[in-house]
Amino acid sequence: MKKEERKNRFIEKLDKSMNATNVISGVHNYCDRWCERCKFIRRCRVGLIELERSDNYDVNGSEFWEELSAIFEATYDMVVKKAEEMGIDLSDAPNVEFEKREPSEIETEAEDYGISVYNWMKENYEGFQNLALEFAEKEFAIPDFKEAVDVINWYELFIPVKIRRAADGLFKDDIFDDDLEFKKNDSDGSAKIAIIAISRSIEAFTVLYHQFPKHEDAILDFLKRLSIIKQKMLITFPDAMSFKRPGFDD
Ligand code: SF4
Repeated sequence: MKKEERKNRFIEKLDKSMNATNVISGVHNYCDRWCERCKFIRRCRVGLIELERSDNYDVNGSEFWEELSAIFEATYDMVVKKAEEMGIDLSDAPNVEFEKREPSEIETEAEDYGISVYNWMKENYEGFQNLALEFAEKEFAIPDFKEAVDVINWYELFIPVKIRRAADGLFKDDIFDDDLEFKKNDSDGSAKIAIIAISRSIEAFTVLYHQFPKHEDAILDFLKRLSIIKQKMLITFPDAMSFKRPGFDD
């Protein structure tokens, strides 16, 4: 399919999702982006696009990148068009310099955790695959095993990203400083989904811990790190858990 066709198809899907009437406003803002498992996939603008996209191409092939490139280009075209309508010349944008801040301790710990788990999973990928096959053939399989590995994999890098976003809200002098309420809410919402992801990862590691004594040391280390990060998050963002995420906490 040609790029122009892909772009037009994306714009059509976007229009369709924008006109959907049963969508929950903002539901995609503080979710875990695991659309295929989300109960709101048909009530979310991002989910509706995901649904159509997944039917149309193989996410593992070159189709994925061609589609993504068309989506980015179509999005850029829309931004330029909107800017023109508003009389804004994008080529005349002021040269804004953002101050780079040092990551806080909690961000560094979360990032270290994510990278360590990613590497550990990679090292043990074959072993886990073989175990999954082995268990699949047994009469009394461990039903949670593959699920636990999927959960850990999904959240290992999601956690540091969300913590980073939550921590951004604690710092002054950025572009959102003129809307402190938005900044605080965004920070709490991001912290909440990070804490939820941490709790789910802890549960998933607990499943692995009971089943795989061979990996006991590594799993205990990850559990300890997650518990510490969670405690620090709850202290740093005391209002996070009472934040109401659209859809999920209504
Ligand atoms: S709310 Fe659900 S469907 Fe929408 S982006 Fe998040 S995970 Fe995906």
